[in-house]
Amino acid sequence: MRDPSQEPADPRRSVPRTDDVLAAPALVEAAERLGGRLVKAAVREAQQRCRDGEIPPSAVLDATLDALPAAATALHPVVNATGVLVHTNLGRAPLSSAAVDALGVAAGATDVELDLATGRRGRRGRSALDALAGAVPEAGGVHVVNNGAAALALVACALTGAGHGGRDEVVVARGELVEIGDGFRIPELLESVGARLREVGTTNRVRLDDYRAAVGERTAFVLKVHPSNFRVSGFTSSVDLRELAGTEGPHGPVPVVADIGSGLLAPHPRLPDEPSASAALRAGADLVTASGDKLLGGPQCGLLLGRAELVERLRRHPFARALRVDKLTLAALEATLVGPPAPVVRALATRPEELRRRAGHLRDRLVPMLGGAVEVGVVDTEAAVGGGGAPGVVLPSVALTLPVRYAVPLRDNRSAPVVGRVERGLLLLDLLAVLPEDEDALVVGVVAADEALRAAGTPADEG
Ligand SMILES: *Cc1c(COP(=O)(O)O)cnc(C)c1O
Repeated sequence: MRDPSQEPADPRRSVPRTDDVLAAPALVEAAERLGGRLVKAAVREAQQRCRDGEIPPSAVLDATLDALPAAATALHPVVNATGVLVHTNLGRAPLSSAAVDALGVAAGATDVELDLATGRRGRRGRSALDALAGAVPEAGGVHVVNNGAAALALVACALTGAGHGGRDEVVVARGELVEIGDGFRIPELLESVGARLREVGTTNRVRLDDYRAAVGERTAFVLKVHPSNFRVSGFTSSVDLRELAGTEGPHGPVPVVADIGSGLLAPHPRLPDEPSASAALRAGADLVTASGDKLLGGPQCGLLLGRAELVERLRRHPFARALRVDKLTLAALEATLVGPPAPVVRALATRPEELRRRAGHLRDRLVPMLGGAVEVGVVDTEAAVGGGGAPGVVLPSVALTLPVRYAVPLRDNRSAPVVGRVERGLLLLDLLAVLPEDEDALVVGVVAADEALRAAGTPADEG
């Protein structure tokens, strides 16, 4: 029999005790910031790695610190190198730092609905609404709800039904019955709040006469939906807002509502076909609905702009309360409107030559870090606005290229997840949606992916 005291120490015996690790000042501080549960979970994970012989007992504290999240959320900040500017799966528009600061201010008790001068109840979110009204002078009234779909649902609710002599029909072109995403469809949304659809035209063509023939006793409003995520080309025709404006029904002009989708407030020179709120109102729309987190580059919200009397009716409708935005949204929207250009707006303004220069610098940083053995290239690419707008518009962009096997470890790394796209047998890290301030994170992510590949035994320089 061997003498157990002669055996090498059992690693399970030498794993530091949970309470001892938790007593380290850095972890006491972390527990105050993140809550004890997250810190304990990180300690347990590090202890397990020690038990498995992956790390020595002396490294348990450092491994715990490494495993702690930056904030008490399981969400990760991700570098969007997809070349899709407004990426729904990545939370659409990233907020500007001005908007992030505003979130911090609004997070506590704040005068969102109190007039500090009089001490009385104030108009909720007045400064955000004033900023929106100031940005679109063509609008007589403005209102903000939870998202674009909520804006449209509120319009349908408030303009159809009992208060409107039973007028419940929404006249809409067949080519504009849009599925937004994740299986949600605008026609079904309208029907879900009691509106009836009166479809006009065919998939590819609709004329003013089609609208005129459909408008009647039951018409509540005419709706024009921007096909923001697809394009019909070839033998097509549609009717301009300008022609629809002032369409007469049996009881006078019928309201025309334009769902412009992307939330551009004014026309954008790089996106000449993308509708804007001000152009739609100038063309005669009575109401415009849009999203706040697409091309406006703000927080998720729904914008409603248009005739003062109609907007007031929406604001006072009982359903409006169910769609009310919170103080955080109002603060971030205001900062997006009055602050420096939002990231989406900055990215849209970035020229390919600038992206090429940035790509060259990034390659020069990365090549020595990867031991010079990995092929890092720079190629011209075609980026896109995304599901949020401007379908079919190609935004000339530039990408760094890496071997495809970097794709998974780059996306699935704790240090800095980077999501690119695979094309032409290469992993493209498209720089259009990568802000200059995200470049360090991109470098950290690539180095972490490289380490993961080496640790897994994949020769990093293998094609
Ligand atoms: C995106 C979009 C919507 C839905 O807006 P959400 O903010 O996602 O609710 C509705 N209509 C159009 C035309 C859109 O592009």
